[in-house]
Amino acid sequence: MRRPLVAGNWKMNGSRDEAGRLVRDIVDGLPAGGGVEVVLCPPFILMAQVAALAGSGHGVTWGGQNVDTHLSGAYTGETSALMLRDHGATHVIVGHSERRTLYGETDEIVAEKFAVAQANGLVPILCIGESLAEHEAGRTESVVAQQLDAVLERVGIAGLDGVVVAYEPVWAIGTGRTASPEQAQQVHGVVRSRLAQLDGDVAARLRIVYGGSVKADNAHGLFAQPDIDGGLIGGASLNAEEFLNICRAAG
Ligand code: PEP
Repeated sequence: MRRPLVAGNWKMNGSRDEAGRLVRDIVDGLPAGGGVEVVLCPPFILMAQVAALAGSGHGVTWGGQNVDTHLSGAYTGETSALMLRDHGATHVIVGHSERRTLYGETDEIVAEKFAVAQANGLVPILCIGESLAEHEAGRTESVVAQQLDAVLERVGIAGLDGVVVAYEPVWAIGTGRTASPEQAQQVHGVVRSRLAQLDGDVAARLRIVYGGSVKADNAHGLFAQPDIDGGLIGGASLNAEEFLNICRAAG
């Protein structure tokens, strides 16, 4: 039985005031019982504040939106896995499509970030997904397989144990256009079967979450699919009520 996970990717949004209100409202409104694991991924500059407000015992953890491949040193502007751990982070998003397309992160860089994060005690949330052109060309499955294989080559199947994979079709991110539950399930099923060929137990335990314009009103249909174990939420994670309703749908 996989525990659903909902992660909020705030991207580069939020003042200290807004973050304070958002975290308080989320913590206050979280469904009781801990049925869903909730991870907030604020911009780095707000992480200490999120950590102070969410604290331990509130049922919320927090993580980074990116991480460097180095642990310390002369890497201006970067943040390391050790720094994230020092702030109590549990997770880190790697390979988000915005990092891949806007900042040139290749499959190999993403795989290295994944490996470094994991080796330093963070749970990577590995984002994979095809562009609109790839989708329209019928290349979805080969694209996600290639992105997954780059990580498998770096860490092996054992390295996928206990991590989170987020299937995020690029054409659905921030566009208001969502993959249908059936489309998303198809890709999630392919990812799980691919990994099951290497290790059935790792594949069965793996949480594969969906991301791409998830809202409270489409979350139920997506999360009802057998291989969709929650969501990675962008825009809707900035609205406490909307985000809480998505968490309730997952729980
Ligand atoms: C994301 O950025 O990971 C994302 C899924 O964004 P949105 O929910 O806004 O489409």
